[in-house]
Amino acid sequence: MDIQQIRFTIFLGVFLLMLALESVIQRHPTVDSKTNRLKINLALTGIDILVVRLVFGAAAVGAAQFAQENGWGLFNYLDWWSGLEIIAVIIILDLMIYIQHVVVHMIPFFWQFHVVHHSDLDLDVSSGLRFHPVEIFGSMLFKIGLVFALGPSPLAVVIFEAVLNGMAQFSHSNITLPEKLDRVLRYILVTPDMHRIHHSIEKNETNSNFGFNLSIWDRLLGTYIHDAKKEQPKIIIGVDQFRTSEEVTLKNLLLMPFKTVPKNYSLFPEKD
Ligand SMILES: [Zn+2]
Ligand SMILES: [Zn+2]
Repeated sequence: MDIQQIRFTIFLGVFLLMLALESVIQRHPTVDSKTNRLKINLALTGIDILVVRLVFGAAAVGAAQFAQENGWGLFNYLDWWSGLEIIAVIIILDLMIYIQHVVVHMIPFFWQFHVVHHSDLDLDVSSGLRFHPVEIFGSMLFKIGLVFALGPSPLAVVIFEAVLNGMAQFSHSNITLPEKLDRVLRYILVTPDMHRIHHSIEKNETNSNFGFNLSIWDRLLGTYIHDAKKEQPKIIIGVDQFRTSEEVTLKNLLLMPFKTVPKNYSLFPEKD
């Protein structure tokens, strides 16, 4: 198996596991058709993968190989033990992705694209994959820039992407964890209950809990909310501009950033 096949196998394994768990230990009642949402979110993922492949080819891993061959970036100067380098790369990239997430909420132009992710009326494992292709394109540009600056080994990038992918599926999943386990995990990791608050319709809750893998950035930088105003199963998911399935079809999601300009969730909304 090559690296791509290993990544796909991990992705599929986590996806099916979460899907199975969602049917047994569902946490939040649903308002939209699960089959329909799965189709839309997976179709969007397919488009995203195509865009990344066509535009970037080997993407972040390719950039890491290129940086290594040319001696670019911090870690190509440091002679660290590879295990330590992988841990450091995961921590640094996770902080950078946290910052990127705050920025896409802050700047109305970016929020126009990120709102596609927040327009899901329910949350489940497939929501972790729901991003507008333009946002994926921008994230990939940012990640490639980071890889050139950091010069991590290609293996470290593969591991980071696999961890990020697996964690995104876990944190978006609609599963019930025992309260104690949730609390303990949350000291370090983003749990489904923590991320669900980020998808709440309440503006101050949407603009909190930005973390993807580690919960420490929210805790350290003051964007952490432990409990939403409503109890977990009663949290209303989504944004107030899009409340029906008809508004969030695949076609509408692709056109959303160009048609509607939902400003009022942005941390610094433009004045109308
Ligand atoms: Zn967000
Ligand atoms: Zn999310």
